[in-house]
Amino acid sequence: MQRCDALARHSELPGGLTRVFLSPESRAAGEAVLGWMREAGMRASLDAMGNAVGRYEGERAGLPCLMLGSHLDTVRDAGKYDGMLGVISAIECVHALHQQKKKLPFAIEVIGFGDEEGVRFGTTLLGSRAIAGTLAPGVLETKDAAGTSIARALQMFGLNPEHLSRVQRKKGEVLAYAELHIEQGPVLEAEGLPVGVVTAINGFSRLRVALRGEAGHAGTVPMALRRDALAAAAECIVTVERTVKNVPELVGTVGRIEAKPGAINVIPGEVHFTIDVRAPVDDVRLEAVDELRSSISRIAQRRKVELEIETLQEFGSSACAPWLMRQLERAVEARGVRVRRLPSGAGHDGMAIKAIADIAMLFVRCKGGVSHNPAESISEADAAVGAAVLLDFIHEFKPLSA
Ligand SMILES: [Zn+2]
Repeated sequence: MQRCDALARHSELPGGLTRVFLSPESRAAGEAVLGWMREAGMRASLDAMGNAVGRYEGERAGLPCLMLGSHLDTVRDAGKYDGMLGVISAIECVHALHQQKKKLPFAIEVIGFGDEEGVRFGTTLLGSRAIAGTLAPGVLETKDAAGTSIARALQMFGLNPEHLSRVQRKKGEVLAYAELHIEQGPVLEAEGLPVGVVTAINGFSRLRVALRGEAGHAGTVPMALRRDALAAAAECIVTVERTVKNVPELVGTVGRIEAKPGAINVIPGEVHFTIDVRAPVDDVRLEAVDELRSSISRIAQRRKVELEIETLQEFGSSACAPWLMRQLERAVEARGVRVRRLPSGAGHDGMAIKAIADIAMLFVRCKGGVSHNPAESISEADAAVGAAVLLDFIHEFKPLSA
């Protein structure tokens, strides 16, 4: 809990927590994490994508690893447990093994992923996708709001984008991936349980919409002759809400909007906004996205504004591996806790790591189900149960082939 507090101090937001990918604050947080990893008996360094990577060798050097971890970046005005708790808990587990001088028949790697939330570049999971070797071609040219590309930001951070291929792990090098994370929902609290076992991570689609009308004088252009891009966007946003509301378990959000030129006396000529749609069933999500695309294009046509819709990211839902879930459930039962299975409404690094290894997740109860908010809170007792379950799981871990 103290380490979560310590990491939360590395923030660009005074009095709150905002830490985006490849920022000076992420550098400081990464350094702190690398120090803790070394203290816990790991060899630790930043990889070429800015992930903090610690490795604890097994009975002999070079064995395939059980990969643990979570992310170190945050949303804007974030809580201090989302992501960080998983990294810190995993380091604590390794520290416990190290203190007992215990070596296992596999190595353990703990990863503090550099970018999971995707706040800076609008594209998520850059850290875990680099490790899985599934970065989209050309993704390094994606620019942040200030016009800095990922490639440039990596260089400014002291990393060499040409070394990115070294970050990638091959199948077989990673026996499994397990992540501890706060629930970010109210289910465990409602059922009085400290932890739960995740069944699957919901899929999501992320779109960027550009509407181009015509800027003009707010006093002289009559209403009938306007092509107001922001008024069109407003109608589109309400349509997003209405479309997803009709389907259970489907959620949709417009989280970012920008209007140009952005003056009180000028009709907005150009608007960009994002859409994020999620569902546990891929077909439900894809159908909703199709419906949104056609509704938005009807609105644009009627209002005579030009429309461009770009798919930023699309991820199918990711099932957790039953064999890993069973091992995790045995560790939960060993703590005297009833096993509760639940899906994850939020995305996680496991979605990317799944390309190279089976995944599992353990959720820790959080207060009121609140996350992505400074009010995010967990109890010390629950954090202890989570870490103890993770440690039991590591102790008893048997790879699928064994
Ligand atoms: Zn998270």
